[in-house]
Amino acid sequence: MSFSAFALSPKLLEIIKEEGYGKPTPIQGRLIPRLLASHSVIASAQTGSGKTLAYLLPILESIAPTEEPFRHYNKAFILSPTKELAQQIYEVLKPFALSLGLRAVLVQGGGNRGEERSKLKRGADIVIATPQRALEYMEAKLIDIKAVRHFVVDEADMMFDMGFITYIDKIFSLMTQKSQKIIISATITPRVVKFAKGYIKPLERIELDPAGKIADTITQELYPVREGKKDMLLAWLISHYQFERVMVFVRKKELADGVAEGLRTWGYKVGILHGERSHQERKRSLQAFREGEYRILVATDIAARGLDIADLEVVINYDIPHVKHDFIHRVGRTGRAGKEGRAITLVSPGEIEQLNDLHKLLGSRIKEVILQEYAPKEIKARGFLLSVPRKSSTSHSRKKQTAAPGGNKKGKKRKTTKRDGFKAYDEAKPKTQKREKARRRGRR
Ligand code: ADP
Ligand code: MG
Repeated sequence: MSFSAFALSPKLLEIIKEEGYGKPTPIQGRLIPRLLASHSVIASAQTGSGKTLAYLLPILESIAPTEEPFRHYNKAFILSPTKELAQQIYEVLKPFALSLGLRAVLVQGGGNRGEERSKLKRGADIVIATPQRALEYMEAKLIDIKAVRHFVVDEADMMFDMGFITYIDKIFSLMTQKSQKIIISATITPRVVKFAKGYIKPLERIELDPAGKIADTITQELYPVREGKKDMLLAWLISHYQFERVMVFVRKKELADGVAEGLRTWGYKVGILHGERSHQERKRSLQAFREGEYRILVATDIAARGLDIADLEVVINYDIPHVKHDFIHRVGRTGRAGKEGRAITLVSPGEIEQLNDLHKLLGSRIKEVILQEYAPKEIKARGFLLSVPRKSSTSHSRKKQTAAPGGNKKGKKRKTTKRDGFKAYDEAKPKTQKREKARRRGRR
């Protein structure tokens, strides 16, 4: 199948080709015809499967100018939970908008209000926004939500996790009935479905992969590690495998700072991305990481969503995320668009309960790699799953987690979802991997 099989204009097909997109991905194949037929959908497909283009192309087809004079007003509106993702969607859209003569405007928390306002006043065909800033401009009548014909909520389930639901609720309530609504994520949770059903009728569900399926191209490994040894193991892994571009995920902002600081003492150039860094710092870190100036990016789960970083060979989970399905998004930063990827997860005995929950979510166990130097004594012989009894108290394991090296003691709790009743699914069988032999210290 090729893009020309869809009812897309020759001009649009030309830009698709110029931008170097090959054949449509499976979600593009499924979604594009439905959206061209004006259906409202709630869609899910695994990370890195090309969802952005799947919703952008039909929107562009619908709003592209066909005759002169062309009036610029808010025809399409795309919401992203984070500014980094909003920026990325904007970058994907930009060449299309430029060629077609459409105006795309990005508005985001931390963005320059003066510039954003004047761009909106000039007239924007497509607005890409983070929720809070979007609502601010809607109230200031700079965004005309009633005019919007296509509305996208990308990474929809994260809006709930981040406590944006009041904003989303308000935006949906202002939207006209007949506008096309597109709700999309790799992990659509029952809460999102329930919410969507309240506003969208009829609502079509497009579910390409089993809920939250991890791409087959991603190889996963689990490293059991003694309490207090994660920083050492992390530095060892990066050095031993000579990872050129690695994203390290941690649960908490303060922990991100601590872990990054630890890595810097080993001489690595490290960027940091979390919610308490300024807009400029976040932008700079991500950009320097994308451009290869930083070899490592240490981030919280705000960076787990949607980001498409070229040649990201490995994701290291310093811990297991608080919101379990964020794990799927973390590892989904690698192995995108059919490329190979590797995901490494570090787990200490204090996190065994979280690990059990994670395995339930994944529907299978991640293959353990035992390094004699770092593995907890009780794990060395037989691995986590066979030897460690399930703990009864959750608070106990949480406490241990926050006391991890470089960590904080009282990071703020995320506002909403703990678990959205996510169903277990059939994960692809992990690729055959040889169990790592015991390694000696001092190989750096
Ligand atoms: P998702 O939103 O599903 O996580 P993205 O939309 O970010 O995925 O796309 C992932 C990667 O795949 C991006 O680098 C994008 O440029 C690339 N991509 C998307 N569609 C195609 C296609 N049809 N052919 C080749 N690459 C594509
Ligand atoms: Mg995406």
